[in-house]
Amino acid sequence: MPDPLELQRETDAALTLIVDEAVRYLAALDESPARLPGAAAAAARFDGSLPDEGSGALEALRELIELGGQAAVRSSGPRMFHFVTGGVTPAALGADWLTSALDQNAFSWVGTPLGSRLEAVTVGWLKELFHLPAAWGGILTTGATMANFTALAAARHWYGERLGIDIEERGLTGVPPVSVFSGGYVHASVVKALAMLGIGRGSVRRLPVDGVGRLDLDALDASLRDLDGAPAIVLGTAGEVNTGDFDPIDAMADLAERYGVWLHVDGAFGLFARVSPRVERLAAGIERADSVIADGHKWLNVPYDSGFAFVRDPMLLPKAFTASAEYLPSPQDPQPNFGYLGPEMSRRARGLTAWASLRAYGRNGYRAMIERHLDLAQRLARRIDEEPALELLAEVPLIVVCFRFRPPRLDEAALDELNRRLGEAIVADGRVYAGATTYDGRVALRPAIVNWRTTERDVDALADVVIELGTEIARDL
Ligand SMILES: *Cc1c(COP(=O)(O)O)cnc(C)c1O
Repeated sequence: MPDPLELQRETDAALTLIVDEAVRYLAALDESPARLPGAAAAAARFDGSLPDEGSGALEALRELIELGGQAAVRSSGPRMFHFVTGGVTPAALGADWLTSALDQNAFSWVGTPLGSRLEAVTVGWLKELFHLPAAWGGILTTGATMANFTALAAARHWYGERLGIDIEERGLTGVPPVSVFSGGYVHASVVKALAMLGIGRGSVRRLPVDGVGRLDLDALDASLRDLDGAPAIVLGTAGEVNTGDFDPIDAMADLAERYGVWLHVDGAFGLFARVSPRVERLAAGIERADSVIADGHKWLNVPYDSGFAFVRDPMLLPKAFTASAEYLPSPQDPQPNFGYLGPEMSRRARGLTAWASLRAYGRNGYRAMIERHLDLAQRLARRIDEEPALELLAEVPLIVVCFRFRPPRLDEAALDELNRRLGEAIVADGRVYAGATTYDGRVALRPAIVNWRTTERDVDALADVVIELGTEIARDL
């Protein structure tokens, strides 16, 4: 087979093929099970060693469509309640395809005025959407994990400055261990980011909590007082993954100000509470933090990969992430060069998809979608309350519903076993997708509702499937 240049004529047919298939796939998405029965077997059929002779683009794409279509989880569909998984709006999908067609490198202005400008505009629009101060710095990342990394790199630079040490220059040798405080809600990705930054997973001191995981303010106050003025990082969670609950961010901001420590807020999906007056009080005070992050591929409903980091002091991003070489733009270039504000140099022009979706639906469109999700979560919670075999395990402040299947006369150990098997059975069944977790010492389900396509019939289907499968498992127990 010839090289790509000689097969260039396949371009139009390849794009047409993909458009036709994608249209077919998306038209069936609302009715499709979340996972087809043969998915694992289809995935396993991708095998064999690297071909010496290529098949050409059309043949390769047909194979991808045939097997890929069976193996793909319908994660952009309305019955995906596992993890916190957003869908893809039509505007975002179109812009994402365009991003690949244009293939801009959003490292630098000189590399792409389009990508650089749209990233700057999008960061500005997101600050407006979330009511964050316009003067804050911001950057688009691959997701919340890298957004946490980016924001905490800014915090690490600030920490070094407080001690008179340039950590990016000198490294961490000789730097005293960083004190990091959290409650029980801190997300695994924040801990991972601290590991990547050399601050260390073990640096996180989990303070006593109020209830199941919400950070206890008296405990934080006492710990910060003990620091005697030394710098530290406080981690807040806006939207915890099992229940959607929030740390008391506003009161944490009071303490952070009083003791001069850094407040970082992980708002991967919870930051979107600030879009709706119905729930914005949950996320009050985030505008007083030093850094906050969110995901685009969750509640913004743009495709992977998309996240955002915002930092109060915009100069900390270039201080943490600058780089220089003779052939690159100067770090003093007045134009935006996002490759100097985050961990990646060459990077996808993520601004296009987020910009297009915000342009298409605006503040009010997102607010309407978010409020529909709030209503759907309450509908599911009501259903659970009404069903004798279902038990709600936590309040539903946002869009995560934590509950379990609870037939009569089973002890706690048997209920845990039943619900663990139920989580596996839901995934194996595939009609809807949801997973098991452990919350407050009990095995539970924790569906999250953040897909723009999800409607009442989808959450009703989830409850029906849980009761059907739960009843079957209980019979065999
Ligand atoms: C999903 C999530 C993350 C991690 O996000 P990725 O996009 O998977 O990197 C971090 N924090 C919270 C609270 C989350 O829900």
